[in-house]
Amino acid sequence: MNLNNILNKEKINKDDICILLNLKDYESIEKVRLKAYNLMLKYVGEKVYLRGLIEFSNICVNDCFYCGIRKSNNNIKRYTLTNEEILESALWAAENGYGSIVLQSGERNDEQFINKLVDIIKEIKDKTISDTLPNGLGITLCIGEQSYKTYRKLFEAGAHRYLLRIETTNPELFKKIHPPKQTYERRVECLHLIKEAGFQLGTGVMIGIPGQTIEDLANDLEFFRIIDADMIGMGPFIIHSDTIYQKMYDTYDIEKRRIYELSLLMIACARIYLKDVNIASTTALQAMYPVGREMGLLFGANVIMPLLTPTYVRSQYQLYNGKPCIDEFSSECYDCIINRIKSINRPIAYNEWGDSPHFNKKR
Ligand code: SAM
Repeated sequence: MNLNNILNKEKINKDDICILLNLKDYESIEKVRLKAYNLMLKYVGEKVYLRGLIEFSNICVNDCFYCGIRKSNNNIKRYTLTNEEILESALWAAENGYGSIVLQSGERNDEQFINKLVDIIKEIKDKTISDTLPNGLGITLCIGEQSYKTYRKLFEAGAHRYLLRIETTNPELFKKIHPPKQTYERRVECLHLIKEAGFQLGTGVMIGIPGQTIEDLANDLEFFRIIDADMIGMGPFIIHSDTIYQKMYDTYDIEKRRIYELSLLMIACARIYLKDVNIASTTALQAMYPVGREMGLLFGANVIMPLLTPTYVRSQYQLYNGKPCIDEFSSECYDCIINRIKSINRPIAYNEWGDSPHFNKKR
């Protein structure tokens, strides 16, 4: 089918998505980008929402084969920030107009960890209520698979959004990149539990996993629709040198450009297919290409996650090689992000939670 016909459709389907994701020439990709950008303007507006990212611990009980902070990587120094350090970063976010933060870490399910988190969520909420933020900072959690009871506890403490990537919706591929105890079925179950507990649901995938096909990626987008996700966070798969993927580095290097292109096309297709969800332009895009995050915004994303992790631990939270902003301070990341967003003429949403219209419609 002709590209213009697909882009003029009210609703595209999986076959259309495959055609869009297979595009390689500049002119066609630009047409897709423009369509996605216009739908972004129509459904979520031009503002870019800031979520300050605090990577508060790199201790993890899981062993995802691709991840730099997985349990069996002994080449990193493990850390957990104190609640004072987390609070300091959160207060900095509130003072600088970030409406929301994301608390992200490796996965832990023990009571001590969850209780620490409950305490800090309550304290952040308590200490960030002001005239400009009448409900305090918005808090998104990204701490992996937990029980329903835990999700509920964290929601009741005051967090209101949760990100858990499905990573890939191809169960066979999921199996290949995780040890047997981490199952696809459990991951899907957790996504349902997160919603049941009251959270706005965010999910996403890695793009360019060895063995992943265009059809897999189209299925991923369909999965986001079926699970009724409110927010999407996708990014390129990037090799970490302390993983089994290190030996694939030569082939990966050749495919890198295409993975980057596909990541942008996935953002555009997610916007065209899902319309009113929030979509993040993730840091991994910038790890691949210096202006990757700006490009994500130009392909239809409306959320950016500037790094707020204290500088002294940033190098210990490397999920993949080439993480940007490792030596910078939060204030430098702030100036850099603001200028990057301004460079593409997009307004910044200060002091706003920026929940997605997709979620707001359901209330
Ligand atoms: N433990 C939590 C979880 O599993 O959701 C949050 C932290 S986890 C490290 C955050 C995300 O990092 C994962 O969902 C995964 O998609 C991404 N990630 C890990 N290793 C990666 C890699 N090599 N390339 C790209 N993304 C990666």
